[in-house]
Parts: sequence; structure tokens; C-alpha cells
Amino acid sequence: PAREDWTAERIAAADRAHVIHSWSVQGNVHARPVAGGSGSWFWDHDGRRYLDFQSQLVNLNLGHQHPGLIAAIKEQADRLCYIGPGFAEQSRAELAELMAELTPGDLGMTFFTTGGAAANENAVRLARHVTGRPKIVARYRSYHGATAGAISLTGDPRRWAAEPGTPGVVRMFDPYTYRCPAGHPDPCPVCTGGPHLEEILQYEGPATVAAVVLETVTGTNGLIYPPDGYLASIREVCDRHGILLILDEVMAGFGRTGAWFACDHWDVAPDILTTAKGLNSGYVPLGAMTVGGRVADWLQDHMFWGGLTYSGHPLACATGVASVRIMREENLVENARERGEQLGAGLAELAARHPSLGDHRGRGLFHGIELVRDRDTREPLVPFNAKGEANRPMAELISAALERGLYLSSFSSVLRLTPPLVVTADEIDLALSVLDEVLGIADTHYAA
Ligand code: PLP
Repeated sequence: PAREDWTAERIAAADRAHVIHSWSVQGNVHARPVAGGSGSWFWDHDGRRYLDFQSQLVNLNLGHQHPGLIAAIKEQADRLCYIGPGFAEQSRAELAELMAELTPGDLGMTFFTTGGAAANENAVRLARHVTGRPKIVARYRSYHGATAGAISLTGDPRRWAAEPGTPGVVRMFDPYTYRCPAGHPDPCPVCTGGPHLEEILQYEGPATVAAVVLETVTGTNGLIYPPDGYLASIREVCDRHGILLILDEVMAGFGRTGAWFACDHWDVAPDILTTAKGLNSGYVPLGAMTVGGRVADWLQDHMFWGGLTYSGHPLACATGVASVRIMREENLVENARERGEQLGAGLAELAARHPSLGDHRGRGLFHGIELVRDRDTREPLVPFNAKGEANRPMAELISAALERGLYLSSFSSVLRLTPPLVVTADEIDLALSVLDEVLGIADTHYAA
């Protein structure tokens, strides 16, 4: 059929019949046909507009249809769409040079991938080769991707379906101060970082551990920010035992938290940094593993055992170069910081009026609100990993927001608030007013 024959109904029908959707029982999928987008908004075929307070999968940092990114794709397409990873090519070289400039510490060499999972796969394999050690410490509240190794690093319940998975992953608790697994004594060994890691290493044998892998700020699993000092404490323990620190900033990197990289907030640099998503807003799939110091030195006279047909894809890298330029020209890291302060102040005001809002936390445009039935006991609105009927309260709140034109998503009882970095002050106000109504529903129906 011709393009004009693809009505919303026809798209929906073909999608239902033939597209396998991520993390879903296919018979339950009713995907909404989308016709277009611009900036912080997307719309359906009937012209209903939605404020994208997710940036899709927290990747669309420059928003929908940024003209500078579209121009970069067209320009590179006219020049050279593809050349094998064995050749040197301008967009690839330029983006790698930019990564060296922007990333913290002495990170300076990049392997480009097609997304976040592949970046983490390569980071872990390389850490094992560099150290000659087998094990990796990862955290429970984490998501590192869906490929075999990355899903084994992941703590989130999506790992369960891939188990037993790849061996050698040891898990530690998260510095989740609102629901600390250690009961949060003062000082708290888990939320301080180092003492908890040190105890795990005592039982695992530090000489068997290649790397600790952390999301600098936990994204998907509930917007968990480490307390000040946490990262430095983990870094110190790693250094003392010759263990590499891998920071996964696939979601938190590239301005999302109001700094170029989330670890910049605490002045801690990893040995290996993984990025994707905001690296080029995903207009063309791209991820990266960037290494420095000991790892970069090692690579000079050892084999790098990794490769991808699309490593350093010119269209993707050209979009990455353009994305960095646009972020600088449009001051988007500053905008993330300023709009984030506005959002944080608005959420504090909502928290004062809505008993269902148990906790709000965030920096830049990386905020979460945690909903509770009772603020004193902190009983969550829905149980951990609730599905189906058990998750109905959260699903209803997300639908109520969508009916009001605000696109949100959740993990357990946490609503994630992660708009594009181009979001305006008016759009933040609009989202806050919809959240006010949605929290009103939560107060009335579920909170004490
Ligand atoms: N790491 C983090 C922190 C993520 O949030 C994600 C995706 O959500 C990934 C890794 C996996 O990235 P991808 O889906 O591009 O493989």
C-alpha cells in the first residue's frame, strides 16, 4: 500500500499481527500509533499531543526531530553512509576525540557499539582480560541491558528469566537511603559504600574480582542517588584491591543530571565509562565504552577481543558529534540544571500537599517520585515488581496522566520524570499541574 493508505488503524493492526514488543505478553500489547513529534512533544494520528516526560526510553535528550541532528544525518548520508570499523573516518575519529575531551579523568579511548548493553558487555570482558580475574560485583537495583552478559549484571527482575546467566557476578546492595536494606544506621555501611563492598570482598576474595559495575545514579530501577562520598568510598576500595571501576552512564550521562556526566557531581572518574542514549539521542543507534589509564595502557600491547560490524557507524557518530555541538550551542547542560531546579521545587511543593508522595529525589532532568500508601510506614503504593492486577494503581495513574496529555512511566512505586534536556519552563509547569491532579487521585484512592 501507498504511504497515505497507512492509516492509524492499519498500522495498529500490522503491529499487533507482526511486531514482537519488548518485555510484553504479545496478546496484551495494544501499541499506540504515533504520527510525529517535535521537541518535548509527540502526537498520534488524531492530533492528540503528549508531553514526553520520559524522553522515550530516557534517550531522546535533544527531543523529537531536532533539526541539527536531522541535518547531521543527511550530511553524513551524502558523504559516506558506511565504512568498516577497520578504517579511520572523520565522524568516528571526531566523536572519539570529543569523548576524550568531555569525559572525566584520563578516559581517552573509545570503542563504539550499537547501544548500552553492548558497551557493558565489552567493558566487563575487557576488565576480566586486563586484570586476569574472573568476578564482577554489581548491584541489585540496576539495569545494564538485555544481552546475555548485560542481563546477568542486571539486578532488576528481568534478569530472572535469563538465569542462570553468565557466571561470575556477585551482587551488593544499593545506597537506597529511603528504603535502606541495612535499616540505615548512622553511619550506614551500605549507603557509605566502601564498608559494604569491603565486607563482600572479604568473602569473595578481592584477588578474584575484576571490576565493580555501577549505574552512577540508578535509573530504571527507581532514580536512586548515592549519598555524597559514596562513589569516592567505592573508588578507594577498588583502588586498594586493584579492582577496576566501571560506571554505567548509559542513562545518567550526557547532561541528564545537569552535569556532562553524573560522576562529575562527585569528582570521581571510573576506569571504564559506558554510555549510549543521550550520546546522540538515539536518532541512529549508538553506544560507547570509553577507557583510560591502566586499561588504555594495557590495550597498547594486548589484543582487544571485541568487534561489531557497526562499531563506529558513521551515521551514528556524525549524530553524536552534532549532538555535542548542539548541547554546547543551546546550553543544554545548564538548561537541564535550571529546569531541574524548577522541577525539584515544584515537587517539594506537591510533596507538602499530597500524602501519597512519599519521596522525591533528583538532579537535572533525572527525577523520581516514590508513591506510598502511608508516609509514616513508607508502605509502597504497589509491591516491588508488581505486575497485572497488583500494579493496577500505578497503571491507572499513568493512564490518568496520559489522558491529560502527559507521558510517564514507572518502576514499582516510582514515577520517573525525565523530560528532554530542551524542555521549557512552561512545559515543566504544565507537567507539575498534571502531576498535581494525578497525585490527587492517588491520595483519594490509595493513601492514608
Ligand atoms: N545501562 C543502563 C543504565 C540503561 O538504562 C540501559 C537501558 O535502559 C542499558 C544499559 C541498556 O542499553 P541498550 O538498551 O541500549 O542496550
